[in-house]
Amino acid sequence: MRSEQPGEDRCEPTAPSGSGTADLDTDVCVVGGGPGGRALALALTRLGCDVVLLEKRDPARGTGPAFRGESVSPDGVRLLAGLGVWERVREAAHRVDRLEIEDAGRRVLDVRFADFPYRYRHPVELAQPTLLAALAELTGGQPGSCTVLEPATVVGLLVEGPAVTGVRASTPTGTVRVRAALTVGADGRYSAVRRLSGLAERARQLPLERDVVWMKLPFPADWDRRAYRVRIAGSSHGLFLPSTDGTVRVGLNIPKGGLRALRAGGLDQLHARLGQLAAQAAESARTGLRSWSDTALLDIFTTDVPRWSAPGVVLIGDAAHTLSPVLGQGVNHALADAVELAPLVAEALGRDRRVRGRALTGALQVFQRRREPHVRRSRALQLRQERMFTLTAPAATALRRTLYRTLDASPALRRRVLAPAYFPGRRPDAARDEADCPSEVTPV
Ligand SMILES: Cc1cc2nc3c(=O)[nH]c(=O)nc-3n(C[C@H](O)[C@H](O)[C@H](O)COP(=O)(O)OP(=O)(O)OC[C@H]3O[C@@H](n4cnc5c(N)ncnc54)[C@H](O)[C@@H]3O)c2cc1C
Repeated sequence: MRSEQPGEDRCEPTAPSGSGTADLDTDVCVVGGGPGGRALALALTRLGCDVVLLEKRDPARGTGPAFRGESVSPDGVRLLAGLGVWERVREAAHRVDRLEIEDAGRRVLDVRFADFPYRYRHPVELAQPTLLAALAELTGGQPGSCTVLEPATVVGLLVEGPAVTGVRASTPTGTVRVRAALTVGADGRYSAVRRLSGLAERARQLPLERDVVWMKLPFPADWDRRAYRVRIAGSSHGLFLPSTDGTVRVGLNIPKGGLRALRAGGLDQLHARLGQLAAQAAESARTGLRSWSDTALLDIFTTDVPRWSAPGVVLIGDAAHTLSPVLGQGVNHALADAVELAPLVAEALGRDRRVRGRALTGALQVFQRRREPHVRRSRALQLRQERMFTLTAPAATALRRTLYRTLDASPALRRRVLAPAYFPGRRPDAARDEADCPSEVTPV
């Protein structure tokens, strides 16, 4: 692998010195320092590749929204273990034992994760800053080097002939050009790399019928801290997730574009909406939610990008396939993309210079072929689930309850329905020695 900046700090945030234009040269330029970008940087440096990672957020201004990406599915835990990250974050993670769905005030489904025959079988809650910091720290000690530029916002792509050869980024001290054999768009649901590379042209954004208002509330005293709760009442539903900071993270579904109407009714209306789903959460909101600035809106859509790559450039994570928050799938797919892509890229970059470009293009196509079926299955499951949540007619909601109860009564059926989300592509594993995280919520 090329290393043209010997002695450069490894995975330390760097701001380009002086003003004007600076140039860097590397194997892989990763745009975006979310779970996908950071995991890819780690996986590549473990294989000896040199990476430059650009992140537009300013680390001096905090690590980003407190609401996002805290639920990590069992498969995400397995992937983190494979990257050597799980041991580092285990103590800070909060294991979840159950998924409980209540519809019209009655429990209709109670999934116990211990019943699944896999080594890593529990989802966990893990604050995203903790995860990102662990990924960054581990990247520092690998055979390949990683230079992190932050804040650095990618504003253009470098192009030679048909191929992308790097990026142009704006930083507080001037413009940086990063030249690379491969540029990776790990820059999330509104990806600039997707747009700038033309890969967005045939992409389809499918708005779902709901948006989600997120908030964190004091944890209701009589609730099990190890359960995910889904509460449904008619066509309203909410997610109630235990958070590592001891609060309950609530995702309240509202009609698409309905925030203005909700806000017009004041916080009392928000409390009333919560009260229809969970009286305890409404009580917590009355004491713990002081203003609308304690909430965040997530515009729910999925993005279907037919082609994830072009010569010299590839998309991963939300940039390639934005999903909905149902069943906490986004972080897992971003990690899975990184783990799948890294060895393919490292192998192609190790080829003779004359065939490297073609090898890389082939590797990117193999990557999409391997990953896309898993994303499609998750998306289909999420869309089915979303449709179930939005049913309104009494006969349809009665049928929904019957379906959940049928699932509840059959462990085999439960396994079949939930496995694509929580254990994609895995065979039952006799080894049940999962290194579980501590038994109480650990503030981080
Ligand atoms: C409110 C909310 C709650 C969520 N809850 C969950 C959950 O519980 N579980 C779950 O699995 N998923 C959840 N998700 C989804 C999850 O956060 C994403 O699927 C996941 O973070 C995707 O990872 P990523 O690395 O692909 O993208 P992101 O995490 O979005 O990271 C992209 C990074 O790129 C940076 N960036 C963007 N543009 C540029 C640019 N031009 N130049 C440089 N950098 C750039 C951004 O600052 C960001 O850091 C949630 C999302 C939201 C918004």
